[in-house]
Amino acid sequence: MKNLYIDFDGVVVNSTNITYQMAKENGIREDYTNYLEFFQNLNWSEILNRCSQVNNSYAEIQKILNSGRFNTSILTHVTSIHEAEAKIKLINKYFPDMNIIVVPKSISKAKVVNAKGAILIDDFVPNLNEWHEAGGISIRFDLDMDGKGYPVIDHLSDVLEIV
Ligand SMILES: [Mg+2]
Repeated sequence: MKNLYIDFDGVVVNSTNITYQMAKENGIREDYTNYLEFFQNLNWSEILNRCSQVNNSYAEIQKILNSGRFNTSILTHVTSIHEAEAKIKLINKYFPDMNIIVVPKSISKAKVVNAKGAILIDDFVPNLNEWHEAGGISIRFDLDMDGKGYPVIDHLSDVLEIV
């Protein structure tokens, strides 16, 4: 059975919209140190409370699980242990048996799990590039269906059609 890794931010919930908006409102520019510090100090349980699913993501994940075709895990970058805690709690609420892998933001996802032959669904192109270079199958999640060179989906269960 193939391993399937699903990104969290911007794919399962719309947290990226909220955090980027907050960064903008606080005048935080995309200078890396500044930006990282800003993200580290965010109250993630509050942010996740304000988030909504992206295109019915919980039902879409359930369809993938029901298919029995993949070993499915959430693979998410985090900037703090509080962010990890908040995300794990939220995912556990909907999927008590889900594998959840949290990766420090400074480390490539492809360095934490073995990408070879495994699928990554992610909205962030640099993650997809690293995954592809490590021998994985990259699928872009994008609401505008812009794959940036990769197969693209806007509903998670569409992975069942393309793999
Ligand atoms: Mg993302």
